[in-house]
Amino acid sequence: MEDVQDPGAAGRAGPQGATPSNGAPRAPGGVPFHALSCEEALAALASSRQGLSQAEAAARLRRHGPNVLPERRRAGPVRRFLRQFNNLLIYVLLVAAAITAGLDHWIDTGVILAVVLVNALVGFMQEGRAEAAISALQRMLAPQATVLREGKRLRIPAAELVPGDVILVEAGDRAPADARLIEAVRLKAQEAILTGESVPVDKSTEPAAADAPLGERRSMLFSGTLVVAGQGRAVVAATGAATEIGRISGMLSNVEELTTPLLRKMDAFARWITALILLGAAILLVYGHFVRRHPFEELFLTVVGLSVAAIPEGLPAVLTITLAVGVRKMAERHAIVRRLPAIETLGALTVICTDKTGTLTRNEMMVAEAATSAERYEVTGEGYLPGGEIRPLGETNGEDAAIAALVEAAMACNDGALVDRPEGRTIAGDPMEAALLVLAERAGRLQERSGIARLALIPFDAAHRYMATLDRMPDGAVRLHAKGAPEAILALCDGEMAPDGRPRPLRAEFWQAETERMAAQGMRVIAIARREASADERPTPETLTGGLTLLGLAGLIDPPRAEAIAAVAECRQAGIRVKMITGDHPATASAIAAMIGIEAPERVLTGRDLDRLDDAMLIEEARLTNVFARTTPEHKLRLVIALQQAGEIVAMTGDGVNDAPALKRADAGIAMGVAGSDAAKEVADLVLTDDNFASIAAAVREGRTVFENIRKVISWTLPTNAGEAAVVVVALLAGLAAPLSALQILWVNLATAGTLGIALAFERTEPGIMRRPPRAADAPVLDRTLVWHVIFVSVLFVAGAYGMFNYAMGRGHSVELARTLCVNTLIVLEVFHLFFIRNFHLTSLTWEAVRGTKAVWIAVVVVVGAQMLFTYAPFMQAVFATRPVSLIDGAVVIGVGLAFFAVVEVEKQLRLRLSNGAGPAARRGRGYR
Ligand code: ADP
Ligand code: MG
Repeated sequence: MEDVQDPGAAGRAGPQGATPSNGAPRAPGGVPFHALSCEEALAALASSRQGLSQAEAAARLRRHGPNVLPERRRAGPVRRFLRQFNNLLIYVLLVAAAITAGLDHWIDTGVILAVVLVNALVGFMQEGRAEAAISALQRMLAPQATVLREGKRLRIPAAELVPGDVILVEAGDRAPADARLIEAVRLKAQEAILTGESVPVDKSTEPAAADAPLGERRSMLFSGTLVVAGQGRAVVAATGAATEIGRISGMLSNVEELTTPLLRKMDAFARWITALILLGAAILLVYGHFVRRHPFEELFLTVVGLSVAAIPEGLPAVLTITLAVGVRKMAERHAIVRRLPAIETLGALTVICTDKTGTLTRNEMMVAEAATSAERYEVTGEGYLPGGEIRPLGETNGEDAAIAALVEAAMACNDGALVDRPEGRTIAGDPMEAALLVLAERAGRLQERSGIARLALIPFDAAHRYMATLDRMPDGAVRLHAKGAPEAILALCDGEMAPDGRPRPLRAEFWQAETERMAAQGMRVIAIARREASADERPTPETLTGGLTLLGLAGLIDPPRAEAIAAVAECRQAGIRVKMITGDHPATASAIAAMIGIEAPERVLTGRDLDRLDDAMLIEEARLTNVFARTTPEHKLRLVIALQQAGEIVAMTGDGVNDAPALKRADAGIAMGVAGSDAAKEVADLVLTDDNFASIAAAVREGRTVFENIRKVISWTLPTNAGEAAVVVVALLAGLAAPLSALQILWVNLATAGTLGIALAFERTEPGIMRRPPRAADAPVLDRTLVWHVIFVSVLFVAGAYGMFNYAMGRGHSVELARTLCVNTLIVLEVFHLFFIRNFHLTSLTWEAVRGTKAVWIAVVVVVGAQMLFTYAPFMQAVFATRPVSLIDGAVVIGVGLAFFAVVEVEKQLRLRLSNGAGPAARRGRGYR
């Protein structure tokens, strides 16, 4: 244990006024802060141990500006717009425009350039959307800091810190500013981002030499470095660009791109297809001109139109939008995606390993029971609210010195705080500790807390599972108080307090039975002990090995979250197993697991059990067991690895600094946004802003939806493009009259790309998505079903287009009118195809299915409007050689669409029925999934 009090300036090193060779922030006297004593640093910053006042902080914020690093400059809008032209298809189109211009075909040139421009505009807007999604995420993850203002502890955005603020840090925090330490308890910081040194540095309040290099300024905490152990207080000396990290921040710009492995694959696929299509187009050009003897001009334009139709140029951008929409929806459901590939993983999860306290339970604790050596007590009252009492259940009539000592110890060995404001009571710090303060209040003794002076501290650590303090009590007595897990505390006790206040021998079996009894009701059980001590003692976990007197047990209830119960049930339906991993007692864990609805809650493995298993046995046990108790973060890592070896796709939640390795290793690492440390959040794929298990289930649902929508976009785009192209290719190869002109092909692309395809990005979750098993993580997107669908739809498109063309010619219409009808038919087929694709798994013939999203209807209205112009506006008729369509012909066009819809729907129903008969395993591989 180390001094909590400031050691003063006694050990000051370094010559006053020396000029170090660096630009460290200095006090007015010119001495850098790391060389000042605590008091001098506070004085130089015109602050105090109580922190600044709110008014002063606000004034300083105006003077110094926000505590943020200068942002990297983004490319300007013009640059970003021009970037859209850097793409193979656009080059081809520009060459085509040049050639048509050379041939004096100005209308063609104009249309081609319009296509180029619209393509670039759509790309530009899509990119803007994606960037907005990313920067919104970054804003949501803005760092927070704990500060003292007017002596009160507050959580504020780190951007609002000012020089002079007193900040509190603990293990897992990222230091929010450069600050001079005024208290340090076993504090260690990892400063690799500044010094490159990955071994954590011990921090202390002793001044460092004025010319000490950065890595040796142990009295300073530097912005952006990670606190890996202990607790500390520090006064902010520099913020924003004035910090050490601010000086080198040009190097730190982690702008993430909106992409995932799947999207990258599709991007590469689109590029390959583009190259292939262009090659095919070149061959077609040579063949058509030299073998079929088509005149070059018309042929060239047709081939260009064909390429534009076939190339899925918009696909990568639309997929990016789909992802951005998913990211936004998840954020609305309290799940912030930090690493975008996680969206895909979430949809494929088979196991979720979750914390108990705060995630499955509300983390609103209340002491409901207490037990001393002679008596049991019931505690009444409501949550953290004032009121309620401690009532003995036996007949000691309150003649029990142990309960008084227990309450006193619970107050002393406590870092929590109750914050009473006019609008009500809130708590600060650990909810369990706040509950113990409320216990003291119910005993009528909370006011004594201000008279207790803490002399030293062993902070709580999951490795030893207790916390101890050395306190000078109001009556002058000095005592060591400890509280923690019963096993941990009992091991330190050799006596228990009798009702008369005197110690007597410890009855270990009695206390174990009491612990089990309370834990079996789902209570978290805390043992509390003390001993007399001397003021100059400095115990550490190594030296504190026994000699304590047990005062008693406190049993805390922490009710399950109702939403968590529903979410666990939902996950189980979705074929995802939920496992609880907790540091709590096995009986408590099992009881809560039963309340939450976790499968087989009676089967519990403790950390000690896990230590006894070798890796092979662990794989088996990890699969079968759903409740793990008294675990440490190292066990989490082992469990993740074991589950992954069993072939599972694993999500793991965590909050502490030691959880980071398990979060990193998991397929989806999930950090708590409220209770979580910065260290955990930084390695996580997902951060929950409400720490609630239900948000994980919601994220899984969104993850599945995004993946489905990506498949829908692909399943709409590829067959549609192929179908359009097939119509042209058939004409060229078979030497038939083209059912639509080259310009009209370009038009079809112009009218539908950027309208119909994008609409699918906004599709809602299909009902039943959480009643299907997880998708196989390695299932290809372009599976056999999709390839078949591409071929099937292409054939139907060719049939529809030629059928319409021949029908029109047969009725004696002009070629122009026949082509106009053919273009409209293609568009109508695409719209019907869109409605078909919207429902992969269910019939499309329900009201829900037909109703559609706003995005779908906007797209349909835009496309229909464009077709009206195309068909009836004189200007368009001049450009595209179109003719007005009669009502009857229009009805026939719609009829072709309906017929198409009926055919594909019947095909789907047949296929679904077939695969249903083949069992669930086959269903996973086939069908549209
Ligand atoms: P959980 O997985 O439920 O969050 P923790 O690892 O936080 O569990 O805690 C494990 C055990 O350590 C608790 O059951 C309790 O006995 C003890 N403990 C937790 N927090 C404190 C604390 N602040 N002081 C003393 N003991 C604690
Ligand atoms: Mg905890």
